[in-house]
Amino acid sequence: MSEKHGIIVSATIAVVAVLLAAKWLAQLWLERLNRRNVQAHAEAVPETFRGVIDDSTYAKSVKYTLAKSGLQRIELTYNTALLGVILFSGVLPLSFAWFQKGLGISAWSMALYLFVIGLVLSLPGLPLEWYAQFRLEEQFGFNTTTQKLWWLDRLKGLILAAALGYPLLVLVLKLVDWTGHWWWLWAWGALLVFQLLMAVLAPVLIMPLFNRFTPLPEGSLRERLLKLSDKTRFQAKGIQVMDGSKRSRHSNAFFTGFGRFRKIVLFDTLIQQLAEPELEAVLAHEIGHYKKRHIPKMLAASAVGSLGGFYVVAWLARQEWFYRAFGFAAGSVIPALLLFGLLAGVAMFWLSPVAHWWSRRYEYQADAFAAKVMEEPQSLIGALRKLNEKNLSNLTPHPLYSGFYYSHPTLLEREEALRSS
Ligand SMILES: [Zn+2]
Repeated sequence: MSEKHGIIVSATIAVVAVLLAAKWLAQLWLERLNRRNVQAHAEAVPETFRGVIDDSTYAKSVKYTLAKSGLQRIELTYNTALLGVILFSGVLPLSFAWFQKGLGISAWSMALYLFVIGLVLSLPGLPLEWYAQFRLEEQFGFNTTTQKLWWLDRLKGLILAAALGYPLLVLVLKLVDWTGHWWWLWAWGALLVFQLLMAVLAPVLIMPLFNRFTPLPEGSLRERLLKLSDKTRFQAKGIQVMDGSKRSRHSNAFFTGFGRFRKIVLFDTLIQQLAEPELEAVLAHEIGHYKKRHIPKMLAASAVGSLGGFYVVAWLARQEWFYRAFGFAAGSVIPALLLFGLLAGVAMFWLSPVAHWWSRRYEYQADAFAAKVMEEPQSLIGALRKLNEKNLSNLTPHPLYSGFYYSHPTLLEREEALRSS
């Protein structure tokens, strides 16, 4: 290795370490900004929400936000330290060499290597996930998950990853062998087909493995929602109730799938919490996502992103200095895939405000659609207020914090937009 080469290798290590530290510090700083903002408003319900939320619920939401932030700080430091150790301790090239020696370099064995590494790396996060569900969520009265259900969920997730993720990895690695230089384009095509299939099949085949979906029960709510789906020409058969109460008292509604396989899902907890006109407004909002074609648009954006991702992996796989920096020998595409998987988040974090800004734009569009169909904004405003109250949402996030993390605008922002539309 030449001297110049050696400098590039050291610079690479330094840049990655700086990126890792920068993300960690930025996230800690965002937590701090947010905590301070919440504490500054903690004394009394902010002016705008007086009469909307009572003192004790507000105080509880402040406590809940601070408790979650406390756990988040621990998680951030823990995950960053873990990633640093994994990247710089030499455990990756060691395990790679060991795996190659034992099982060979076929696509099947190398896909197994990536799968096992992914599995092993997901293990250290389990204790914190467990704590979040059975201590924090429990403390604020949200948890309804049993221990058995929680472990069963993890087991099902593992089986699904093995059944779907492993074959996809094998296919990608086979494409590397078969198609040579342009493998990344083929691999991207394969991932795209896989994602489209999942978008169609997940609501039908995967989600029912975790929850029960039932049609709306007979009654006045059903009548009302059917009328709305007629009016907006949304097939009513796609409206279903999910037993969200099986895991948590949090409430929600979402829209998923596309084409004939589309589905709007209302949590049973939501139906318990909202009045009928409010539920109608929530449904109208979800139909708005469908009418504005938000899911196909997001899939298209993610396809562009993954094309860029595969290009970067193929490029990195040809850079000897990059491999050397992490202790790998040149020649295989596997280390590039692995390192990209570990490092993508470190760089992509800085783009999250853009992604979330985009997502919030869609929420405003769906809100506006709902208000138009309902011919008044008040039902949706009522629904949003109750949702915020029941979920103990943070009413006063710091703008930078919500910019980085919020996929939905805050209650205040949504109310303002609804009133002015
Ligand atoms: Zn929405």
